[in-house]
Amino acid sequence: MSPSFAIKCLDCGHTTSYFPTSTSCPRCNSQWREAEYDYESALKIWGEQISSRPFDLWRYRELLPVRNPQPSLSLGEGGTPLIQAVNLGMMLGCPNIYIKDERQGPTTSFKDRQAAVTIAALKEAGITEMVAASTGNVAIAYSAYAARAGIKLWAFVTSLVPAVKMREIALYGSQVIKVTGSYDQTKQVAAEFASQRGLYQDMGARTITSVEAMKTIAYEISEQLAALLGPLPQSGRPLTWKAPDWYVQAISGGMGPIGIAKGFRELKLMGLIDRIPAIAPIQAEGCAPMVEAWKNGLESAIPIASPRTHIETLATGDPGRAYKLLKKQVDEFGGTFESVSDEEAFRAMHVIAKMEGISMEPAAGVAFAGLFKLIRQGVIKPTDTVVVNCSGHTMPAEQFILGENWARSVVLPSRAKEETPQEGLLAALNQVAPDRFPRIAIVDDSPEARRLIRRILQSQGNFTIYEATDGKQAIDVITRELPDLVVLDLMMPEIDGFGVIEAMKTNQETANIPVIVSTAKELTSEEKSRLEGQIQTLLQKGDFMNDEFLEEVRSLLK
Ligand SMILES: *Cc1c(COP(=O)(O)O)cnc(C)c1O
Ligand SMILES: [Zn+2]
Repeated sequence: MSPSFAIKCLDCGHTTSYFPTSTSCPRCNSQWREAEYDYESALKIWGEQISSRPFDLWRYRELLPVRNPQPSLSLGEGGTPLIQAVNLGMMLGCPNIYIKDERQGPTTSFKDRQAAVTIAALKEAGITEMVAASTGNVAIAYSAYAARAGIKLWAFVTSLVPAVKMREIALYGSQVIKVTGSYDQTKQVAAEFASQRGLYQDMGARTITSVEAMKTIAYEISEQLAALLGPLPQSGRPLTWKAPDWYVQAISGGMGPIGIAKGFRELKLMGLIDRIPAIAPIQAEGCAPMVEAWKNGLESAIPIASPRTHIETLATGDPGRAYKLLKKQVDEFGGTFESVSDEEAFRAMHVIAKMEGISMEPAAGVAFAGLFKLIRQGVIKPTDTVVVNCSGHTMPAEQFILGENWARSVVLPSRAKEETPQEGLLAALNQVAPDRFPRIAIVDDSPEARRLIRRILQSQGNFTIYEATDGKQAIDVITRELPDLVVLDLMMPEIDGFGVIEAMKTNQETANIPVIVSTAKELTSEEKSRLEGQIQTLLQKGDFMNDEFLEEVRSLLK
């Protein structure tokens, strides 16, 4: 049994008890309300019990608006891993990047939390039928949990939602209603349907259970960071958790960060963390009313009537009051709003898949593209600890990311025509050998630097890469393999980069191979003039993440 909680009106402060179908303040009619708990009792219970509870969302049940959570309704929600993005961190020069891997929830997005808590509350209240409007993931998550709870779901989705997602909703037994129109219009149709039939309706960021469910992401991150970074908790000592410096998430209606920010504020209030992280809500450029409003210093966002983004998950054109709540959070506790193009999001998805082995959906790609941008702008600092929310799967979007030439084909000769099938097979396999990829030699005495450059190159295409650890080896490799490009460090013991260039120039076969020089230090004017006319590009180390490097590589390989 949870300690008591109450629902407080954000406008008039009036407090009532919670019942899912009462969706507005009885005194002033406002629909914007927040759950409040007995934090002192909760802290006491957590101190005694939390370390022995399973790592899932119900671990925090004292601060959730469900009186008696039923294990039989659970699908294992929450408790997702926090994964350090080691390669990405190295590439961006920002080593403390963590991925909150919500893909590992029951339906692969953080909407699982919302569905788990809301359906549990509805079940507890005896409700058997509900309506939700969705850009896809909400309806999928609600459908799974509704199926389990025996609740009938009417799912209103925009016709832009990919067919694979619609089928998944239908598979769980929900009624899918496709609305040809914007997401904001779809919400209106759903609301009309719900009020005509007197059905419970999900109210997005105004749904108490949904906002409360999102909080658990903040709780988990703080516990996980403490375990990863801090001294181990000792029995008898008060709990201490650790908040990141930044929380980055792609937003549509903004419910995620609203709930997560509340979670961090609660932990601070309880003394479990010592600061509240800055938040970075990221929108798709074609539908970025909150970013526009924030950059122009507006108090409310101007709705976008026709969103222009392929990322339908993020197509809320009218954020309503959610913008004010997020702006207040950013004004008080730090953060920023940013937008990225669909192309930047797709590129980010590809980079993370290749570097970290994590395949995400385009909406999460928006969050990562936002992260890249904020690091490049210097808004997120190299020493900051950053957590990025990751959801979904790339599947529906893979064709846009990879284009057509992503595989090599082996066509086996038919047995009838070929006398010796074995030979035919070998001939076919020879065509698969990767010796037609552009060939690049990386010369650097630091293994970290070689690994970094290799990673960056491999994240963007297929290359055959040779490595050399000093000048002598470099000359051997270059004369033997005749690569298409050399990426060369200048400062190496014995034969340095200047020596390698000189040796290349004296050999007719290697004299014209393009060279990109990477250097950690400012060059003297004498050194610069030694390089004049000898190399194609001079880059400072640390500049490698700039698109400039990859553009140079591409243009030199043409
Ligand atoms: C729902 C969703 C969003 C948008 O989240 P809000 O907090 O509702 O704005 C972003 N990314 C993914 C993967 C989502 O499913
Ligand atoms: Zn009120």
